[in-house]
Amino acid sequence: MHRMGSKIGAALLASSIMAAAAASAQTGAPPELTLTRLDCGKTTTLNDVSGFTDVAAFKGLSVQLTFSCYLVKHGKDYLVWDTGNPAAAAGSTPAPTAPKSSLVEQLALLHLKPEQIGFVAISHYHGDHIGQVASFPEATLLIGKGDWDALNDPKPNPMIKPANFEHWISGGGKVDPVSGDKDVFGDGSVIMLNTPGHTPGHHSLLVKLKEKGNVLITGDLSHFQENYDSNGVPTFNTNRADTLASLDRFKQLATNLHATVIIQHDARDIGKLPPFPAAAK
Ligand SMILES: [Zn+2]
Repeated sequence: MHRMGSKIGAALLASSIMAAAAASAQTGAPPELTLTRLDCGKTTTLNDVSGFTDVAAFKGLSVQLTFSCYLVKHGKDYLVWDTGNPAAAAGSTPAPTAPKSSLVEQLALLHLKPEQIGFVAISHYHGDHIGQVASFPEATLLIGKGDWDALNDPKPNPMIKPANFEHWISGGGKVDPVSGDKDVFGDGSVIMLNTPGHTPGHHSLLVKLKEKGNVLITGDLSHFQENYDSNGVPTFNTNRADTLASLDRFKQLATNLHATVIIQHDARDIGKLPPFPAAAK
């Protein structure tokens, strides 16, 4: 098993090195890679986090949660990671968790139009990660196969809102259901990591920045630092054993890659990237 794994790993590594070499042969230099945090909603009060543990941990602990999305620029290509809570519809009272401005408005401040976003990658199917996915109909949708299958289930679980994905479910948009990891640009710089357990197809994101170094973005593998540190499993996860295996993998990667870990929902991690509109490089 181990031999097999390292053979596959070596082959993958060799192919990403070759892809990187090909890319730099064409342009003379690897494409510029940047990472920007986008605001995807708010919680105004401290959150009671007792529902995020199935072992009765965190009695009385409150944490300031947040909603984060990210923009990855890879040369002339762009990827949006997660699409957060829905923005307020024009003329209606915004939901308490709605972001102050939509992703499309935030991207406009970076002089980007939605049609320039080639990939919209989703950590998992929960509502606070898919609220604005429909704003990017021209993007290829990258989503874990387990989650894609759940979205296409004729009788979906009530936690799942396939309506947001109607454009792709109906065949109107390009979709790449990801099983395992996904090297998005083929040069090893941006990798969707298979980290199931929170949902069947849950993924995290690795971005290998030149100056800042490796950045690992959790998705909802963990929601806050204390749960990350103690391998906590929320009561509403779809698979406890998978969650623990995913946490083990993610933490070993973080150690071996000397990565900065960003817990998407933990407001204390917002400062790990430069404030919008600045980007980490
Ligand atoms: Zn979430």
